[in-house]
Order: sequence, then C-alpha cells, then structure tokens
Amino acid sequence: MEKDYNLNNDSTEKIPVKNPPSILLLSGLDPTGGAGISADIRTATEWKVYPLPIITALTAQNHKGVHKIEAPSTETIVLQLNDVIDAIRPDAVKIGMLPNAAIVKAIAEVLKNRKLKNIVLDPVLSATTGGALTGGNQTMLAMADSLFPLVRLITPNQLELQLFDQLLKSYNRPGMLDSCKATLITGGDTKDNYCVDRLYKKSRINNEFYSLRIESRNLHGTGCVYSTSIACNLAQGTTLYKAVDNSKCLISDIIENSAPYSIIPGYGPVLV
Ligand code: PLP
Repeated sequence: MEKDYNLNNDSTEKIPVKNPPSILLLSGLDPTGGAGISADIRTATEWKVYPLPIITALTAQNHKGVHKIEAPSTETIVLQLNDVIDAIRPDAVKIGMLPNAAIVKAIAEVLKNRKLKNIVLDPVLSATTGGALTGGNQTMLAMADSLFPLVRLITPNQLELQLFDQLLKSYNRPGMLDSCKATLITGGDTKDNYCVDRLYKKSRINNEFYSLRIESRNLHGTGCVYSTSIACNLAQGTTLYKAVDNSKCLISDIIENSAPYSIIPGYGPVLV
C-alpha cells in the first residue's frame, strides 16, 4: 500500500508537542565538577528540566580547599538574566553561591521586576573543605533584605541558619524563618543515625523528612543537588511537600550509589 507523504494535507492530524519545563540556575563554577553549576545542570537533566545556566562566580578549588574566587560584573549578569528571560521564561529558579552584595542586589532586582516564580535559595556560605564562598556580612544582609522576600523556599543547613540568625539579630532584623515563606532546614550535617530535614512555613513546622544516614566520603555538592532537585520539581508543577519528598529520595539514592567511588580521594563528588 502506498503511503501518503503529503505533509500539506490538512487532514493530517497534528500531535501537540509539550515543551519541557525550564529552570534558571544561578551558581558558581567548581572546576572539579562536584558542586555548583555542573551539579545543578546534571540534576536538571536527571529531572528532564531544561537548564538555563548563569555563572555567579568562578572558583579555583578542589578537595583541599577554595583557593580563589572571581566574580563576574553585575552588568554581565543582568544582561544574561534579561537575555535568557526574553528567550525562555523559566518555570523555576535555583540560586546558589553569591560572591558579593552587588551581585545579590542586581539578581534580586531582575527576578522581582520580571516576576519570576518558584525561586529556591541555597544560602551557601562556605565549602565543606573550609573556604568562604560568599562575601561576608554585607552579602548576607543583602540576601536577607532583597532575596528572602522573593523566595518560595530557602534551604539552609543548621550552621547557615545559625550564622544568618546571629547576624540578623545583631541588626535587629527578623530571623530567617520569619523572613522567608518556607524554610527547609537540612539535617545531613549532624552525627545522628537519621538525617532529618524540617520544613517550616514561616516559624511553624510543617513536615519532617527522614532518611537513614549513609556513611560516605563522596558528599561534595549534596546541598547543590538537593536544592536544584526541589526547584526542578517545582518547575514541573509539583507541590512543595512532594518536591522535597521526591528530592530527599533522590539525594538518599545518589549518596548510596556514589559512596563506593574514588573519583577524588578523601572528599569526592556525589554523582547524580
Ligand atoms: N563550590 C560551589 C561553587 C558551591 O556552590 C558549593 C556549595 O554550594 C561548594 C563549592 C561547596 O560544596 P560542598 O560544601 O558540598 O562541598
């Protein structure tokens, strides 16, 4: 039987094509590939969410420490943000390393003016290997003033929460829980047998997420993957509770799967 190759035939049924959701990734570049923008891109790819990467800082670092940070100009970041948003409207935004207050304020202004939604902030202060990743008190205050009111979720570990709250208290400002719509306090850094992450809506606890502690030397980038995974789920239209739950499962699985690797001895990447 002959096939009908007449593509102009009006009777040809058109199958609607749904675009994948997209995520704007604002993160630092870690040349060992474990954390920052490369971890974010791998995570977005895992969830089939289209990644839109903007690099907020160049770092020279490895398992021995952070050796240099170079920040791009705010002008370049603002141009990149507007260029991306003019081309594709992101369904979610993940913000990671922010090297200085000027970059924080510039990013917040664009996100606010362009009315971007589903913003997840990982308030990174320092690397597990030691070195600072952010420009100190002024950068933290700028984050609290301009980004906290915009985010759907912030994902501090216990130490980040404590350091932010100490600083905010000394400036008579409300703490992180009161300033952000929702806060996920991650418990991976404790020594307990279980890692318990607690989700707060303002200062009221909403949910707890449990996983068994898995011993591993390959944990570099865990926080980046977790927060990006949550943002990717939000980009797909998932509820906040389910986005955290799905991401907690992913992070537990990849920590377990990555544990036997020795890509970098001592402190290696968690591989999604
Ligand atoms: N480098 C960059 C660019 C990061 O964004 C982060 C964490 O967010 C780190 C390094 C530190 O990663 P970790 O503390 O998981 O080793």
